[in-house]
Amino acid sequence: MIADRSTLRTGRPDPGEALWNPGVEALPTDRMRRLQWERLQRQLAYVYQSSAFYRRWFDEAGARPEDVDSWDAFTRLPILTKDDLRRAQAESLAERGDPFGGICCAPRDRVVRVNATSGTTGTPTLYLLTAHDVAVVNEMHARKYWRAGLRPGHVMLQALSLSMFTGGLPLSQGIMHLGAAVVPVGVDGGSRRVLEFARLTRPQAVVATPSFGLHLVERCPAVLGCDLRDLGIRWFFAAGEPGGSDPAIRSRLEQGFGARVFDHTGGGHAFHAITCPEHAGMHFVSADHCVLELVEPGTGRPVPVGDGAEGELVVTFLAWEGTPFVRASFGDVVRVWTGPCGCGLPGLKLSIVGRADDMLIVKGVNLFPGAVRAVLEEFVPRVTGHFRIVLARPGPRVDPPLRLRVERGSGVEGEALARLEAELVSAMRDRLRVRPAVEWVDPGTLPRPTHKARWVEVEGDG
Ligand SMILES: [Zn+2]
Repeated sequence: MIADRSTLRTGRPDPGEALWNPGVEALPTDRMRRLQWERLQRQLAYVYQSSAFYRRWFDEAGARPEDVDSWDAFTRLPILTKDDLRRAQAESLAERGDPFGGICCAPRDRVVRVNATSGTTGTPTLYLLTAHDVAVVNEMHARKYWRAGLRPGHVMLQALSLSMFTGGLPLSQGIMHLGAAVVPVGVDGGSRRVLEFARLTRPQAVVATPSFGLHLVERCPAVLGCDLRDLGIRWFFAAGEPGGSDPAIRSRLEQGFGARVFDHTGGGHAFHAITCPEHAGMHFVSADHCVLELVEPGTGRPVPVGDGAEGELVVTFLAWEGTPFVRASFGDVVRVWTGPCGCGLPGLKLSIVGRADDMLIVKGVNLFPGAVRAVLEEFVPRVTGHFRIVLARPGPRVDPPLRLRVERGSGVEGEALARLEAELVSAMRDRLRVRPAVEWVDPGTLPRPTHKARWVEVEGDG
């Protein structure tokens, strides 16, 4: 059996402890690597025995699990993409009338939860979890929030899209596992309902997308007649978008909420990380159940996970029953730091640079929309922070110049606007090596996001 709860905590730590599970989270690197290697060998044998999809995957690579006798040999296995997983789902449904058959490794009577990615493009990818896998996810959520300072007795308002997405029920269960009280208000009632529940339940913590968080800050005076910072919220947890690691966006959220801002990642699966309390980057907290690798976007060539390395993130789940992913890429490009961190907390640090899918290429320069946003945020309040990248045809290749539609701040006109444009273009050129053509629009013109921000617009796509 692949289930392994030996590195999961039973019971809660003393509230004064800095880590939820210090014996595992602070394990020295070489011992963690040995634990990973043992679990990896069992995991590969398990997926090969229990899933037609993985058996074919190994066969096509001309390998069997026992051939993987070193980390090097492991990096020679092919990389799985979301498209591969979607195709496996579709084939299984078409050939056997079974939506999960190809990718599910656990006996069907052990599966207790089906989650899906938000699937902004194409069919959602399904994740199946057994009770054991749910216990792993719950523990990882607890490790993250515990590091940030959340404790039993605190109340967390969950203002994310609920339902089956990983920011929904899986996150609610993780917060409950830590022992805090979750208010799963969701976002379907818009900002008014979220703000009213914030007034009613007086949460110490809020979890939302950064763009929705900024929207709440903007709307609070009109809805509640006070500033959001007057509600006593101490933590803002950013989820679902990269903005939570951006210094300018973080500082606007910090001021707006009067709270500390933490970015974090990890939904219904095994890869989890949360912002370092003192420095840039997120500490990886789930090494006992997830192996991280970096590869070159495009070629898939391994990039050594050394201090300052950058590459597309590839993950492998360990001791995972339902739909374990082996060498899977979800398209995030990250940078890592491997040395000990000044904050004293253990765990390799990483920061998400962008999505390989969102990456645009302007005259040979790689550009992430999040990076454009980060530069613009530094010009608030002379701009509102809302913008669109306007493409004549779908990316990644962009015919120069890069067209930016940007909302000017109120009262910024004439000469002040011309000066702003010159500064903005020069900042973009220095920081991103791209010289944009700016098209100004009035404040409040661009549609506001409620769930995930949409930064790229293809003309003729609506
Ligand atoms: Zn740190």
